[in-house]
Order: sequence, then C-alpha cells, then structure tokens
Amino acid sequence: MFIELDGWKIDLRFSAAHFIPSHDKCSRLHGHDYGIRVRVYGEVAESFIIDFLELKRYIEEIIGGLDHRVLVPEKDGISKHSISGDQVTVEYQGKRFSLFKPDVYFIPDSSTSSEALAKFIGNKLRDRIVSNQNVSKIELCVDEGPGMGAWVEIRIEK
Ligand SMILES: [Zn+2]
Repeated sequence: MFIELDGWKIDLRFSAAHFIPSHDKCSRLHGHDYGIRVRVYGEVAESFIIDFLELKRYIEEIIGGLDHRVLVPEKDGISKHSISGDQVTVEYQGKRFSLFKPDVYFIPDSSTSSEALAKFIGNKLRDRIVSNQNVSKIELCVDEGPGMGAWVEIRIEK
C-alpha cells in the first residue's frame, strides 16, 4: 500500500533559479516553479503508514531551504564557483554571475536538473523517515512545472 501527496494541490512547491551549462537553452540563468509529488509505501500500523501532515511538514522543511534561491551545483564539470566574503561568483562559457551568498543553495551533485533535485530531496526525506518502521519505499518527483518531472525511487532497508 502507499500514500500519496500531490504538491500542486497541497502547496508543496518552491521557486528557484538554476542553469544547466551542458544544455543550449538551459545554460541561461532561468527559473521554475517546482512542485513535489511523493508516494510512501509500507505497512499500515495504528491506522497509518505515516501521518500525511507529518510527511508534508518534512518536505516543507527540506524545500524551504531551496525556495527563492539560486541553485548552484557543488561539483559541475563545466561551471566553476568561488566564494569571497558574502559573494559567490559563478563562471562558465564566458558568463559570470555574482550572487549574494545567502541567496545561493549549493546542491551536492553535478547538476541542478530535476533528476538531481529529486535525488537530493528524496535522500533528505529518507533520512527524516528512515526510523519509521512501517515505510519500505519512497518515490519522489520534482516537477519543473505541472506534468514534467523526474521521479526517484528510494528503498528503505530494515
Ligand atoms: Zn531549468
């Protein structure tokens, strides 16, 4: 059995700017309104697999850090970033952005694609609910706008 939250209907959304240096159009700094969809699989115990509102709160706490920020990959093979004081400078392909450091969120991956964001958010969610003995699997999707997203599947071993 699984439970499902659709972030487009219950406001599990965030807005952020990013860039994908390896892609023609997406190498330009641009933004999305992202939505989260999640399924949590497991056994029902004391009426629930996991409380809907508890699950929603965990996701809100994770995506709250990304909201209205510029997402920068920590280890992109094309772009380079440097930090000086409260400024982050990002450079690639002749482009140079200087950003206020508190406005930046570093994603510990080689990209800030929906695929990378799904993996990042899904792993953080796993850390939050791994102690729940009912849960056996998480499927989490990051949509770049309604109907276009990347799903990650994370099994929780007991
Ligand atoms: Zn994009």
